[in-house]
Amino acid sequence: MKLAKYFNGLLGQRLIIPGLLVLTLVLAAMFGAWWQAQKQSGHWQLVLSDQSTQQVHAVRRGERVQQNLAQELGHLQARITQLENISQDLALRLGVGNSAMAWQPDQAGSGYDLSTAAALLRHRLARQENVLGHLAAAWRQQLALQQALPTSQPLRKPLRSSAFGWRHNPLGASYRMHNGLDFAAPLGTPIKAASGGLVLRAGWRGGYGKSIELFHGHGLASHYAHAARLLVRAGDIVRTGQTIALVGSSGHSTGPHLHFEVRLAGYVLDPGMFLATAPLHAGR
Ligand SMILES: [Zn+2]
Repeated sequence: MKLAKYFNGLLGQRLIIPGLLVLTLVLAAMFGAWWQAQKQSGHWQLVLSDQSTQQVHAVRRGERVQQNLAQELGHLQARITQLENISQDLALRLGVGNSAMAWQPDQAGSGYDLSTAAALLRHRLARQENVLGHLAAAWRQQLALQQALPTSQPLRKPLRSSAFGWRHNPLGASYRMHNGLDFAAPLGTPIKAASGGLVLRAGWRGGYGKSIELFHGHGLASHYAHAARLLVRAGDIVRTGQTIALVGSSGHSTGPHLHFEVRLAGYVLDPGMFLATAPLHAGR
């Protein structure tokens, strides 16, 4: 037994050092692993915290961009409202207004998200383009009509000698309608086109004597009668103020003068409406 104990002890003493060595190595390995784990964990913590900081920055940047966009949209809305107001004013001045120009209240209020607000803005812009197209067309039409109106004086010194309307016929005792204005002028005074247009007729025409009829478009025509001489022919195009004839006393006339008529779709109009500045020399 003693021998066995001795051997056991000997064996124990022999094994204790390698055992300690193994234990030390195992502990060292475990510590190493723990240390590595700590380092890794620290690294990931750093990475994670860095990532979250970047995320926060990104979110803040996004918020700033959104705020800027919202502000920009607000400015655009204010400007388009201004445009709509100007269009509305123009439409009133031009005397036009139909369903295409019906104004709607400002829908892009602050309660909308950015994409809805942008969509509404796009819709309002499209409507404005449409409205402006209508306004431009109306304006061109009115401009053309204005240019067609026989508003230029047919004589350089227009002395009105007879007014438009019912009067006693100077060549008889009857009471009859005078379809135009008479301007007294010396024989041979140039007669000028009251507006540009096409010469419809130029020649002798019953009581009108030598006369010219000009067509100005839009159903408007002007008529110059009792001339001594005609300077244009049917089919000619004349410009406003162009000399087309010379004052005479041809046809039913009591003396040299110009009989000036304006017709719309064949119906006589008072030329005084167009020649508003012509003074009345002597009414009859
Ligand atoms: Zn007359």
